[in-house]
Amino acid sequence: MNVHVAAYTVPTEAPESDGTAEWDRTTLVLVELEHRAVRGMGYTYADDATARAVQFLAPHLSELSPYNTRSIFRTCVTTLRNHGRGGASAMAISAIDCAAWDLKARLLGVPLAHLLGTVRPEVPAYGSGGFTSLSEAQLCDQLSRWADDGFSAVKMKVGRGKDLERVRAARKAIGRGTELFVDANGAYDRKQALQFASGFSEAGVTWFEEPVVKTDLDGLRLLRDRTSMEITGGEYAWEPADFLALIPVLDVVQADATRCGGITGFLDAHALISAHELPMSSHCAPALHVALGCALPAVRHLEWFFDHQRIERMLFDGAPQPERGMLRPDLSRPGLGLELKRKDAERWISNGR
Ligand SMILES: [Mg+2]
Repeated sequence: MNVHVAAYTVPTEAPESDGTAEWDRTTLVLVELEHRAVRGMGYTYADDATARAVQFLAPHLSELSPYNTRSIFRTCVTTLRNHGRGGASAMAISAIDCAAWDLKARLLGVPLAHLLGTVRPEVPAYGSGGFTSLSEAQLCDQLSRWADDGFSAVKMKVGRGKDLERVRAARKAIGRGTELFVDANGAYDRKQALQFASGFSEAGVTWFEEPVVKTDLDGLRLLRDRTSMEITGGEYAWEPADFLALIPVLDVVQADATRCGGITGFLDAHALISAHELPMSSHCAPALHVALGCALPAVRHLEWFFDHQRIERMLFDGAPQPERGMLRPDLSRPGLGLELKRKDAERWISNGR
């Protein structure tokens, strides 16, 4: 197999922030694996360092069969052993693994949903954005539009002040018929998180994501046991051991195929999480998770993340669009169902080639 990698950097519509980070652009690192003139593609949201990690792995993949996805995955993991398993390594492995599954499905002439085998034809999604950089009016407008479009839940960021006021305003804007999720991105300490938990709960919030920093497992457990809201996290789980650490302290475990090892890593995460009888939810990159969401019974919903759905629509033909808050794989297209709009994408190339 030949390996191609490119990084595309797309500015956001306006500067954005959550409880602990600020950004004004997003980079998508695209990997294509080519076998006998057929290309499969995968991607991750990372930066040029991840593209370099993919280039480092490329010579080790040349002799592997595109049908042996687990072998491709294992080769990546062992080759990067001394570099560390998380961060750029994990994102490179994830993009390559997704490309390998896409390639295998294309070689077999089937959609990824059929290759995986599904338990349902469509999967629920929730609207996700609500950045702390939005004015209260912009926040309410975005969330209420998603509620009107039929999403059964919407998520907003918290952690930068006026959180309770903004949550109450959001609740008023979306009404009582739509679930309201909050994500602190680890912005609070334990006592702040406990205090906000009671206010959020009174405002009808049902999901409190990363109330404290992801490494504070005792803090996550404390919050989980003290509030009726679901305590959630997992977006930085790179490997099975990370999920094993989080499973005992969360109500819903999130997993991101662009970080946790692609389709293979997501399947492995699902096995661990469902063995503990917990629900899971996919994080970001909605186009990459539709087939997985239809295939895996423990997946409750996908995250329709504002920035990523926008980029996926800009760069890919076939990017799925929600209907009544549901996402459905296009079974008329092979693999992931995505085709790079090569001409449109040219203008966003940043590096990695
Ligand atoms: Mg989050």
